[in-house]
Amino acid sequence: MTERLRSYVMGEWIEGAGSHRPLVDPTRGVALAEASTEGIDMKAALAFARERGGPALRAMTFAERGALLAAASSAIHERREALIEVGVQNAGNTRKDAKFDIDGATATLSWYARLGEKLGQGRFLLDGGEERLSRNPRYVGRHIRVPLRGCALHINAFNFPAWGFAEKAAVAILAGVPVITKPATSTALLTARIFEALVEGGVMPVGALSLLLGGAGDLLDHLTTQDVVAFTGSSDTGRAIKGHPNVVARNVRVNIEADSVNAAVLGADVEPGGDTWDLFVREVANDMTQKAGQKCTAIRRIFAPADRMDEVQSALIDELSGASTGDPSHRDVTVGPLATGAQLKDIRAGVDRLRAAARPVFGDGGRGELVGVEGEGGFFIAPTLLRVDDGHAAEVVHAHEVFGPVATLIPYDGTAADAAELVCKGDGGLVASIYSDDRDFVAEALFGIAPYHGRVHIGSAKIADHSPGPGTDKPQMLHGCPGRAGGGEELGGLRGLSFYTQRTAVQGLSPLLEKLFVDGVEG
Ligand code: NAP
Repeated sequence: MTERLRSYVMGEWIEGAGSHRPLVDPTRGVALAEASTEGIDMKAALAFARERGGPALRAMTFAERGALLAAASSAIHERREALIEVGVQNAGNTRKDAKFDIDGATATLSWYARLGEKLGQGRFLLDGGEERLSRNPRYVGRHIRVPLRGCALHINAFNFPAWGFAEKAAVAILAGVPVITKPATSTALLTARIFEALVEGGVMPVGALSLLLGGAGDLLDHLTTQDVVAFTGSSDTGRAIKGHPNVVARNVRVNIEADSVNAAVLGADVEPGGDTWDLFVREVANDMTQKAGQKCTAIRRIFAPADRMDEVQSALIDELSGASTGDPSHRDVTVGPLATGAQLKDIRAGVDRLRAAARPVFGDGGRGELVGVEGEGGFFIAPTLLRVDDGHAAEVVHAHEVFGPVATLIPYDGTAADAAELVCKGDGGLVASIYSDDRDFVAEALFGIAPYHGRVHIGSAKIADHSPGPGTDKPQMLHGCPGRAGGGEELGGLRGLSFYTQRTAVQGLSPLLEKLFVDGVEG
């Protein structure tokens, strides 16, 4: 019988009622488990988190909250092997891709655990120093950042069931705000197994961390002014959440991480065969194939100087030819299936859309030759590279994110100004990469594209051996960007805590403020 997953809310495991949604093995198309949130009292779940989890977390110092995160990281790491298997089964990850997700989760929790340790005995943040406000030097003002009294509702996408949960939860818990996390139902088995580890390990205070498996139901109707929503997923859902009548009426804080048509630019100075060239080719091909291209940060647009297009195309084809698509449990396979049948349909339609302006030069949006897969089952698409001849006229490649192993090669005239103009047609990207050893080119490209991007990755010969690539979010660095990708901001070390805290300006007598703020720590 198919396993029925239970949500963990109000300090207990609760099975939903009604019709359950299936969680499918995307390699074989068979159901592994099912989940439903029907019948779960969302209002009560939110209230429990606020009333039990909130006070428990706020009573702790940053160091104590950090210790919770360290314990969560260890509890997940202890089950790493079993969790990898779940990632292979339910998310269609190769073992390497599953490790990327799970190790990303533990590393982010550990990083925020260390930040908590560094912040030490403080319970809230001091934001800047004292400001003199009148002729009397003792009448001063100071800003503090205190944890909100509500609940952080985290709604996540299907592609990172471990890391997506952990990167949001780490920041909220460290800030002192309880979390209800709702992973995308299709790949939630991994998040469910992680919660089993956390609950059995008694890692968090009761109410600090809850899990909803299945649809969001009427959750948004019960949010209050002290709650926040951090969402990752498609722009359409992001807009629906931001525009939800209760969210609008109560001005609930919402952070959105959505679609992004990320770019990589090869500088005109970069010669074929050099370290920077090889780094560019390696990182572009890795971004296209890792997690079958289902990464919000994956490179979708590849910009090369017009006179280098043929060489870049053949270098990328050489590199992509080394990838093999198929059953992710097979050790030779480097590209697993897409997570769901709906994604497969979406990506095929996306490739057709790109074809209006671009032509395929490697792969054609089909399954290709599969390793370890018999018949027509599973949700496969082989890596597909397209090419356009005029990037200025190919609007669709700048506007449409195809969330799979698909990218488009686009020429620019060799100047940083033209590259930046084309990159910015993406209208807001999570990350853009510049590969060059020419400082003037890098400077012009960087300041041209920075206003439209949350992060810029600069690849050069001197860092070629140390670069994790643009697709890896580091907890120290911001994740998010203006425009198309939702206008959100997450992570960025201490910056991430801003979303979960209220910045309050406090004015009064200087010695009094000093006494009131003994539990504050410089942030
Ligand atoms: P999605 O369909 O928008 O779903 C995302 C989440 O929203 C899921 O948990 C989903 O729950 C939930 N949801 C759907 N409708 C909702 C509603 N009316 N109210 C509340 N929650 C609702 O997106 P996806 O297919 O999982 O993810 C793919 C997209 O995510 C891609 O376009 C990609 O660009 C984007 N993405 C962005 C980032 C980033 O950091 N910027 C990262 C990863 C992915 P159910 O699964 O239960 O329906």
